Amino acid sequence: MFSSVTLYVVGIMSGAISAVVFGSLVRSRIPGLFRWISANVLIVAALVALAFSDSSPTPLTVVFASSLFAGAAFLVLQGCRLFFGLRPSRLHEVVAFVLLVAGIVHWSFFSPNADARIVVMSGFLAYVRLMVAWTTYTKRPLHRPGYSYQFVAIVAAVGGFVHIARGLAAGLGWEHHTRFLEPTPMTIAFLALGIVTLPCLSIGALMLAYDRMAERMERLAAIDELTGALVRREFMAQAELQLERTNRTKSRFAVAILDIDHFKAVNDAHGHAAGDRALAHFSSIVSQGIRRGDIFGRLGGEEFAILFPETTRADALTLVNSLRLHLAASTLSVLHGELTCTFSAGVDEYQANEMLANLMARADAALYSAKAMGRNRVVSAVSTGDETADVTKDSPKPT
Ligand code: GH3
Ligand code: MG
Ligand code: MG
Repeated sequence: MFSSVTLYVVGIMSGAISAVVFGSLVRSRIPGLFRWISANVLIVAALVALAFSDSSPTPLTVVFASSLFAGAAFLVLQGCRLFFGLRPSRLHEVVAFVLLVAGIVHWSFFSPNADARIVVMSGFLAYVRLMVAWTTYTKRPLHRPGYSYQFVAIVAAVGGFVHIARGLAAGLGWEHHTRFLEPTPMTIAFLALGIVTLPCLSIGALMLAYDRMAERMERLAAIDELTGALVRREFMAQAELQLERTNRTKSRFAVAILDIDHFKAVNDAHGHAAGDRALAHFSSIVSQGIRRGDIFGRLGGEEFAILFPETTRADALTLVNSLRLHLAASTLSVLHGELTCTFSAGVDEYQANEMLANLMARADAALYSAKAMGRNRVVSAVSTGDETADVTKDSPKPT
């Protein structure tokens, strides 16, 4: 029903298609992509050589095809490691690859032995496949959907076990081979499985590449480029999630709304570009000053918000006030001198079962009070009576 040549042709087509599809992603600069493309090119070259050698490949073809198959598998592993930001290969693996090729040369030209070739080849391929499975499984990003990572890990592990079975069959003498890819039922089954697992691995790698691109796009859509803060939509979405968590766990959280003082005057005095740098400066001070887990977003223009999980109104007030002091004490060099910015802020704490909009409105009203009271201050919402944090001075209006 199946002949080796039919399987070679199917393999050539799927390898070529995989290489072309990977090629469409070249501009995405996904780490490891070039190794995955090269692996498919090597597989196609090996299968072409085998298809043309008919049923009795010469020792040269055997060495050529086997080395390319092993090299392709090694490249898949290297691509996988690069994808996860790891070093592509280890010294012992390079040594093993060189020894493998030397062994295949020896057992093809000098002391022909198909079983010995199968044993060393299967050992190397099993190791490489299992390393792909292990790397993909252990390095998968936990914040991403796991489907494509599990798919690659499972396909690679299945491939690894098939190679182990084939190596054992040849090594323990369960099946004796007199020549390369002799079309025994097991070899045909092995080839057929190879024809299935190789494109599956390529499809899996493509799924990983697309997941990486989706992650990049989501990041771009969630983060404000100028300030590195979350964009308003993302901040509100994360705040809603925090609200649900707080209701579930009966814990607490506080929100602060911050607005840079007299920012229009900064733009007018120093230009829009300096204004942009001032926004970035403000954001870097806030980002460095908040705790891990606090959520920082840009609501629009020069207005920002911070959500403090597990924090009371009083503690949030203290935290924001230390940010305020920090910003007021810092300077930013601009074209004609230096610039100091301040901000005003309103703070309040979440009340059980209220809507996020209500909390934001109270923090906003407190911010309004801070502005009305002269700026450069942090004001707690009216619900417990105004608490104004440690105001040192009113903000100087830039000239
Ligand atoms: P107040 O103390 O009352 O908040 O005064 P303000 O001048 O800060 O407030 P106002 O709302 O009058 O002006 C905000 C200014 O922020 C106006 C707008 O041009 C500027 N702005 C908003 N977004 C950006 C931005 O991305 N870059 C720059 N450079 N300026 C921006
Ligand atoms: Mg302002
Ligand atoms: Mg404003």
